[in-house]
Amino acid sequence: MITVEHLTKRYGDFTAVNNLSFEIEEGHVYGFLGPNGAGKSTTMNIMTGCLSATEGRVRIGGYDIFEEPDKAKRLMGYLPEQPPLYMNETPVEYLKFVGEAKGLKGRELAEQIEKVISQTKLEDVRNRLISKLSKGYRQRVGIAQALLGNPKVIILDEPTVGLDPLQIIEIRDLIGQLGQEHTVILSSHILSEVQAICEKVLIIAKGKLVAFDKPENLEKLLMASNTVSFIAEAKTDEIDEILKGMWVAADWQMKDMGNGSTCVEVQIEQGEASNLCRSIFFAFAKEGKALLELTSKKANLEDVFIELTESDIAERGLTESVLEVTEMEEKEIKEQKTVEKIIIKEEEYKMDGTEESGVEDK
Ligand code: ADP
Ligand code: MG
Repeated sequence: MITVEHLTKRYGDFTAVNNLSFEIEEGHVYGFLGPNGAGKSTTMNIMTGCLSATEGRVRIGGYDIFEEPDKAKRLMGYLPEQPPLYMNETPVEYLKFVGEAKGLKGRELAEQIEKVISQTKLEDVRNRLISKLSKGYRQRVGIAQALLGNPKVIILDEPTVGLDPLQIIEIRDLIGQLGQEHTVILSSHILSEVQAICEKVLIIAKGKLVAFDKPENLEKLLMASNTVSFIAEAKTDEIDEILKGMWVAADWQMKDMGNGSTCVEVQIEQGEASNLCRSIFFAFAKEGKALLELTSKKANLEDVFIELTESDIAERGLTESVLEVTEMEEKEIKEQKTVEKIIIKEEEYKMDGTEESGVEDK
């Protein structure tokens, strides 16, 4: 539905969007996630034909946004970060204005306005001045104008920013409903938000794509997704001995807690946590060492986000090889604990021609 190829936007020496490539398929809800200043709005403005690009190509339903902007734009509805609402108009007047600008008229325009008003639940305020509406209602007016003309793709730039929790829930529900009929792309710097509504997430940092996957797979890419931690009444060298005897491939860190006990964190593969907990329990019992605590921790998208945007992958961007890996079988993803490690492994592989798996086959 949408193809973005090597998109770059520079402002003087500053590169706001850096060689971004991705594809959006029809009929899904996509999340465009990244910290402030990552380049989300810039990318969305270029994709919707509101801003020129320095380099690269964007095609919407086969139409090039720079070469055939009218045809491409007809397929999209856009809610910019700061929608240009006219405060002295009512929602109906404003929607009429936008609808006409989109080429709608007469009965079709009237029907479309009624449809989007009902979709965005604006009935109660339809004839009130926009200046008198709450931020939540104004946001709905913004979404309503994006829906006019029934475009295939709806692009929403931070649609829940500045809303109160109740309004956020309402807008999220609305987005979920829109996702049943449209391809939806929404940007957000809030992880739980994209986790809750999006089927696929693009993470960008410093203008580069650092991850593109399902929320659940992004979690799998992360080391902390697989942490078992425990406190044992044992010294560090004793713990080393026990762990080496049972879990050869995992990495672990230890911290001496004083008073003869040690805190240990073990990194393992997704889904292995309960097995590892069981093994640790019996191995330490066998050695007569007491476990004072034993817990496993699963990462959420927040951890992935921090890991990806703070790592130097953000400096380099997501390489082709990582893109391929994220699309690989889940089994293969499981063998890699972090994107960082995937890259290192690829390099090792190229260097000596053999892949050294750090994880023992099970
Ligand atoms: P996001 O929406 O992810 O917060 P933006 O796309 O708005 O990020 O901005 C990306 C970067 O580009 C930011 O560092 C921002 O300061 C910069 N930027 C955006 N617009 C301009 C502009 N017109 N001139 C110079 N720099 C800009
Ligand atoms: Mg923005």
